[in-house]
Amino acid sequence: MPQHSPFPHLFAPLDLGFTTLPNRILMGSMHTGLEEDKGSLHRLADYFAARARGGAGLMVTGGIAPNRQGWLAPFGAKLTTTTEAKQHAPVTTAVHNAGGKICLQILHAGRYGMHPMLVAPSPIRARISPFRPWEMSPRLIRATIRDFARSAALAREAGYDGVEIMGSEGYLINQFTVPRTNKRTDAWGGSFENRIRFPLEIMRAVREKTGPDFIVIFRISMLDLVEDGSTWDEVVAFAKAIETAGATIINTGIGWHEARIPTIATMVPRGAYTWVTERLKTAVGIPLITTNRINTPEKAEEILATGQADMVSMARPLLADPDFPRKAKAGQANAINTCIACNQACLDHVFEQKTASCLVNPRAATGNLPQAPEGKGAIAVVGAGPAGLSAAVELATRGFSVHLFEASGAIGGQFNLAKRIPGKEEYAETIRYFDTMLKKTGVAVHLNTGAGADFLLKKGFQEVVLATGVAPRIPALEGIGHPKVLSYTDVLSDQKPVGKKVAIIGAGGIGFDVAMYLTANHQVLASDAARIAAYQQEWGIDQNYQHRGGLTDPQPETPARQVWLLQRSKGKVGAGLGKTTGWAHRLTLKNRGVQMWNSVQYHRVDDAGLHLSVNGKQQILDVDHVIVCAGQEPLRTLQAPLEAAGIRVHLIGGAKLAAELDAKRAIEEGMVVAQTIRPG
Ligand code: NAP
Ligand code: SF4
Repeated sequence: MPQHSPFPHLFAPLDLGFTTLPNRILMGSMHTGLEEDKGSLHRLADYFAARARGGAGLMVTGGIAPNRQGWLAPFGAKLTTTTEAKQHAPVTTAVHNAGGKICLQILHAGRYGMHPMLVAPSPIRARISPFRPWEMSPRLIRATIRDFARSAALAREAGYDGVEIMGSEGYLINQFTVPRTNKRTDAWGGSFENRIRFPLEIMRAVREKTGPDFIVIFRISMLDLVEDGSTWDEVVAFAKAIETAGATIINTGIGWHEARIPTIATMVPRGAYTWVTERLKTAVGIPLITTNRINTPEKAEEILATGQADMVSMARPLLADPDFPRKAKAGQANAINTCIACNQACLDHVFEQKTASCLVNPRAATGNLPQAPEGKGAIAVVGAGPAGLSAAVELATRGFSVHLFEASGAIGGQFNLAKRIPGKEEYAETIRYFDTMLKKTGVAVHLNTGAGADFLLKKGFQEVVLATGVAPRIPALEGIGHPKVLSYTDVLSDQKPVGKKVAIIGAGGIGFDVAMYLTANHQVLASDAARIAAYQQEWGIDQNYQHRGGLTDPQPETPARQVWLLQRSKGKVGAGLGKTTGWAHRLTLKNRGVQMWNSVQYHRVDDAGLHLSVNGKQQILDVDHVIVCAGQEPLRTLQAPLEAAGIRVHLIGGAKLAAELDAKRAIEEGMVVAQTIRPG
């Protein structure tokens, strides 16, 4: 064990007998959309080569289907022919040239396929799919086992170091193993032995086709989080059987896609599921990988040092920062661009059939933002929110002498509000990252400096990046000046006292955040263990595993306040929230008794409360406070005087466009504008 490393367990090699992994970091499987690039997988090759250079011990591709029925979506990636295998050669070559190792994930979607050819052990439609699956005949089951083995053999031919068999998250294999979705009465259903026959035969066939010196990771659903999932005894017996059938490593799968419990979103505490892997530790002899919400080397080291697992899987954290392992090993953990588990640019993109990117790192999977030549001369960046920070660091990296002016006493802008929301504490990591990078790249940071036009002109800047952000929109409403009315910054930033009954005007991202903040009890949970216990209680996760699937009755927090969350438009409240996380925010608020109303017309605020109509029916909400979360207006008063004086001004982030302002666009604009400014 290398004692000089700050993370000795993380960087201890793992001997698999026929090969040795250099460390305990698995870049877990994650679909990016690059798998579906037509004609060439060169972008996928660049993507993985960057992570191999960054020091990942082992990587796994996004899911590749073993046949057409197994597609996630029509014309999704599959590996069924030698021609398809050849297309993967650039990926494996690039990874090996960079000193890395990579496995191909074989994923059969089963009833989660978003196409009409989908198949499953029994013809039961998933509640998240529009299609009812076809029941697989015994002949098709046998053919599918052969297809898995063929894909594995082709992966070996393509140069992969191994495969991962996807047996969790509610995909086909998982659909066979549990009574929820397997109602068969033949040799492939009914008893536990029959239900696990399909995965065991796949495992044996894959091993037989690929030989003993090929990594086979089997991902087991260790906690289904749906009714009629596995019992814990079944998980243990299955894991033992998978080991006997020839797996090299067992990976942890948590929660089906149809489960109504968030398992990877930012509100899930760090390391919330390592206990599941740990429970299996004494039952099997092969290495175990643990997963879900492990996003810092400190957390990963703690998990390994306490013997909870042999490896840690980090997919999004290595999407966010390809150099995560290298930086951790070099003692530069502070310079890691930490994944904040927002899902906004990765999973949400993939869900919308777009290529994955990353909110905190727009270069993550595209790799194609222009890399401009070295710059000289001084540039002012005004505003140290996400957009300004991103521009300042990027400009300084190019060699410009950058002065960053911030009117308040801290960098971070709107992220300073976000980090106060219970469940969004991770946003502080992005501020920490930028703080490190400002120092590393030599940006001169001027806090408490409201740089006006005269000031900037006097300083002689010829080029100014305006990232002055936004101001809360004040709706034209009678009584808007009443003492009951507060803006979201009054609440989140200035911590003004708020009464027990509250109406929130505006149900965008910030309205939801404020509702979350005001209904939470803000218990001080000092340890991750306490946070995990509270999360399990809120969502009904049973660490004692007394029922199938590991579920118990949820016990939502008693809300701290009674809240009405209001919008004028007709659609579903919260419709604009992220695809993969919006449901969890809505469910949390529903469980806390928040009334979410659409089609609201506001009339006035007075001592009686908020006067409004819903669908034409007038009423008064007798509330103590009305919090305005009605969007924002851009702040760009500097633009005109600077331009009049002949200064080149670049608007980015909220200052450019406050509507649909989001951090993803802000950080990306900062980076792009910094690349387009001409050298001095
Ligand atoms: P927003 O999403 O644009 O929502 C503004 C809300 O105010 C809407 O519900 C709108 O609904 C209402 N509204 C607009 N003008 C109004 C007026 N004149 N009077 C009364 N109501 C009015 O803005 P935001 O909530 O301030 O969020 C800003 C951005 O921050 C978001 O777009 C998002 O990208 C980002 N953010 C995201 C999250 C997240 O969860 N991902 C969290 C926080 C912030 P009606 O017009 O229907 O009334
Ligand atoms: Fe993590 Fe958000 Fe980036 Fe996805 S988009 S990798 S969740 S920071």
